[in-house]
Amino acid sequence: MSRSPRIVIIGAGIAGLSTAVALRRRGIEVAVYEQADAVSEIGAGVQMTPNAMRALRALGVEDAAMAVAFEPESQVLRNWKSGRVIYRAPMRSVFRERFGAPGCSFHRADLLSVLAAPLPSDIIHLGARCVGVETRGRGATARFADGCAAEGDIVVGADGIHSTLRRQMFGADMPRFTGCMCWRGLVPADRIPTGLIERASSNWLGPHGHVVHYYVRRGEMVNFVAIHDTEEWTEESWIREADRDELMATYARWHPDLLRLFECSDRYFKWGLFDRDPLPRWTDGRVTLLGDSAHAMLPFLAQGAAMGIEDGCVLAEVIARSPDDLDGALRAYEALRVPRTRRAVLGSRERAKLNHLPSRWARFKRDLEYTVRRLFYPDGTVHRTAWLYGYDVMAEEHYASLAPAAGEAVAA
Ligand SMILES: Cc1cc2nc3c(=O)[nH]c(=O)nc-3n(C[C@H](O)[C@H](O)[C@H](O)COP(=O)(O)OP(=O)(O)OC[C@H]3O[C@@H](n4cnc5c(N)ncnc54)[C@H](O)[C@@H]3O)c2cc1C
Repeated sequence: MSRSPRIVIIGAGIAGLSTAVALRRRGIEVAVYEQADAVSEIGAGVQMTPNAMRALRALGVEDAAMAVAFEPESQVLRNWKSGRVIYRAPMRSVFRERFGAPGCSFHRADLLSVLAAPLPSDIIHLGARCVGVETRGRGATARFADGCAAEGDIVVGADGIHSTLRRQMFGADMPRFTGCMCWRGLVPADRIPTGLIERASSNWLGPHGHVVHYYVRRGEMVNFVAIHDTEEWTEESWIREADRDELMATYARWHPDLLRLFECSDRYFKWGLFDRDPLPRWTDGRVTLLGDSAHAMLPFLAQGAAMGIEDGCVLAEVIARSPDDLDGALRAYEALRVPRTRRAVLGSRERAKLNHLPSRWARFKRDLEYTVRRLFYPDGTVHRTAWLYGYDVMAEEHYASLAPAAGEAVAA
């Protein structure tokens, strides 16, 4: 191919925008199609572990991200009822030294703005709902609800957990209700009684549930997510408003500090967590998947968005290295990404069980193991996360079998 490839991306979420930035940095032509009338995210938090922060560095947006991030000093696990500290470890120093990047938390809208900033507005097409895609010899065509079409050498489905492209390529899947319900809320920090919520990444572990909270937006807000086992089936949606009384009744026996935090929120949202088995393949001809459309996972390793950002970096790199063999580039993309994201999907499932142990004895054993690990590995993390956090998406070793990318990366 003598000309630069043209890549069409469906979806302007965290994964789609990251991919667009990564491709443009390599001088590759991109067009993004988003069904909504604006590029926007829900009012909630998202944690970026060191592997994700490294990927943001590769996109050239690390400084802009740090300007709106909150970087917790430490990671703390507590008993749900007594508040006893089960595990406490420094996060800032350990993550930076051990993994070469910080661990941060963001307001989702802030992270999305950071990713959108380097992109010229004329490459993002809003109000464009993709209804199908056709792959043909050396390209693919995305079709939209308004009758328009977009042609590319590759079409990328970054269209989220309910992906139209995945359904068309691999058939309708059967999301499995995991038996977990979530509530979330976002509270301005100045509304929280002084000293109530420490500036750590906190996780309260109970029987049949856990609660996570962390600061976002330079420490100006606190995001909380409360997860609880239930038989009740709830739709898979982030935007259903919930009743405060129901949340307070579910957590009535939990530590009073948590209840005070919940009370500080004006609005609550709830939804059911659904799960999908990992897909063995993401590509059909010149159409491929990326982000949640490829590997929707439970949130318990804080890796869904992280994996989507990594996907974008890898896809751009393999295309830049093989612009004349895009089929080979897509094979390399799958080979690099499917095993890692599969491990994250399955690891997230396992963590759900560990966080919600119903038996008092099982919780005692788990907590003892955390304490022992802290004693013997003071510079470690509570879980064995080196395979996740220590991953450098741009490390040459991943791309050793491919030619180096031609020319220098260009600024987006
Ligand atoms: C409670 C919870 C907490 C989480 N916490 C973390 C965390 O701390 N860290 C982390 O890394 N991950 C976390 N995740 C996961 C993370 O939120 C997702 O993995 C990530 O947002 C997915 O990004 P995406 O771009 O793939 O999909 P989405 O954000 O869903 O974006 C898809 C985009 O495609 C658009 N679209 C959809 N269909 C079409 C169509 N047909 N045509 C055109 N456009 C379309 C949508 O409008 C949307 O803009 C969490 C998830 C949950 C539920």
